[in-house]
Amino acid sequence: MSEPTQLTITEARQALTQKRISARELVDAYLAAIESARDLNAFVLETPERARAMAAEADARIARGEAKPLDGIPIAVKDMFCTEGVRTTACSHILENFVPTYESTVSAQLWRDGGVLLGKTNNDEFAMGSSNETSFFGPVLSPWRRKGSNTPLVPGGSSGGSAAAVAGRLALGAIGTDTGGSIRQPAAFAGIVGMKPTYGRCSRWGTIAFASSLDQAGPFARTVRDAAMLMRSMAGHDPKDSTSVDRPVPDYEAAVGRAVRGMKIGIPKEYRVEGMPAEIEALWEKGQEWLRAAGAELVEVSLPHTKYALPAYYIVAPAEASSNLARYDGVRYGLRVPGANITEMYAKTRAEGFGAEVRRRVMIGTYVLSSGYYDAYYLRAQQVRTLIKKDFEDCFAAGVDAMLTPATPTSAFGLGERGGSDPVEMYLNDVFTVTVNMAGLPGVSVPAGLDVQGLPLGLQLIGRPFDEETLFALGAVIEDAAGTFQPARWW
Ligand code: GLN
Repeated sequence: MSEPTQLTITEARQALTQKRISARELVDAYLAAIESARDLNAFVLETPERARAMAAEADARIARGEAKPLDGIPIAVKDMFCTEGVRTTACSHILENFVPTYESTVSAQLWRDGGVLLGKTNNDEFAMGSSNETSFFGPVLSPWRRKGSNTPLVPGGSSGGSAAAVAGRLALGAIGTDTGGSIRQPAAFAGIVGMKPTYGRCSRWGTIAFASSLDQAGPFARTVRDAAMLMRSMAGHDPKDSTSVDRPVPDYEAAVGRAVRGMKIGIPKEYRVEGMPAEIEALWEKGQEWLRAAGAELVEVSLPHTKYALPAYYIVAPAEASSNLARYDGVRYGLRVPGANITEMYAKTRAEGFGAEVRRRVMIGTYVLSSGYYDAYYLRAQQVRTLIKKDFEDCFAAGVDAMLTPATPTSAFGLGERGGSDPVEMYLNDVFTVTVNMAGLPGVSVPAGLDVQGLPLGLQLIGRPFDEETLFALGAVIEDAAGTFQPARWW
């Protein structure tokens, strides 16, 4: 058997049930990998005791012949998911010492199915960012490096720690949240698979809220099949989240390998943006060839409101964030900085507790919601959002089964290279991903190749609402053609 940290979830599951490895051995291999990779700063909290205890329970179930779907699989959890008795911070100073008394539904379902918690992963503060550089705990370093260069690169964001953990072989799978691209963009930068499910497919209960109408949890994995396995456990109706949808959870794994012959794949012409590197354009074409070779029909489609998606997102998301983050006031939990009176206490707590990007979003959010500006900004952005959604609906109504686009406009960039003087430079990372959140659709990023610098590039598939299965089927075709990618170890 190959190195435990080189296995996929599928292979590990087989090795565990055939008793070629124990859950305890598997988890120990991952805990050792995490320890030797602390330079990456992918984890903000390691939970070795809990991991070993969970592995022991998994081993006992396997021994009794009662293995659960994810029994003994070591999983990393973004620090946006509340974990009972395990510190959860959103990578913010304001929640630095917060220990939840409850478990998020999504993570609880992973543990219900036998998954093992390795620890909490680093992310941009409150999931605001595209590079993991806004974390209170410092940036994550990508396990990838440019050919012949030691320049530290970002892993993408905001789920940078989860992406780095899976790509760096520090976890078999991980979970993240995606509000505007925070699963798909880091997955693309890290050369792994990342899915944002349909809005409502996974419960948001117990997940720290950023922008409630956009946030969705999703998996990171090294293969499409592995991502499908995680999704099956994560998805499902939750009476505790009124936006979670009561639909049966399909066997997503069964969709991997399903024929895509005859499927109609839309190529949105508006995604051909100015200044996009020629090699991304070339990879996109390659992706189309792969799907065509598998029997799919490629059609050009138009999503005319695409250009408004990013500006509208940067109104809607901060608006919702400003209202969600109002609860961090130093009163009930989290940081409290005393002041002469309660107003001063609020102000000092929030000024000290939030980092610069979060403060910027709160200010934009309160501005666009304020009386006099509400109609001009927030209401307008919501109307644009409806149009963006309608663009997709029109294509699906015309028979398109899914769309293929690049996942990001560039490959990973260097630490500190972007957004220093102009935040919009960072926001532009999300140009291909935010539309999907605005429309509430499922999207997956699948690694498709390496650029001239030797860095991964991903292709994005966008599906009809609740049709994640088609994305898994198409993603597997791309994966079969492109292969899988692994960074050379330097840490
Ligand atoms: N990069 C986007 C933002 O900063 C998206 C983040 C996310 O998906 N959580 O808002």
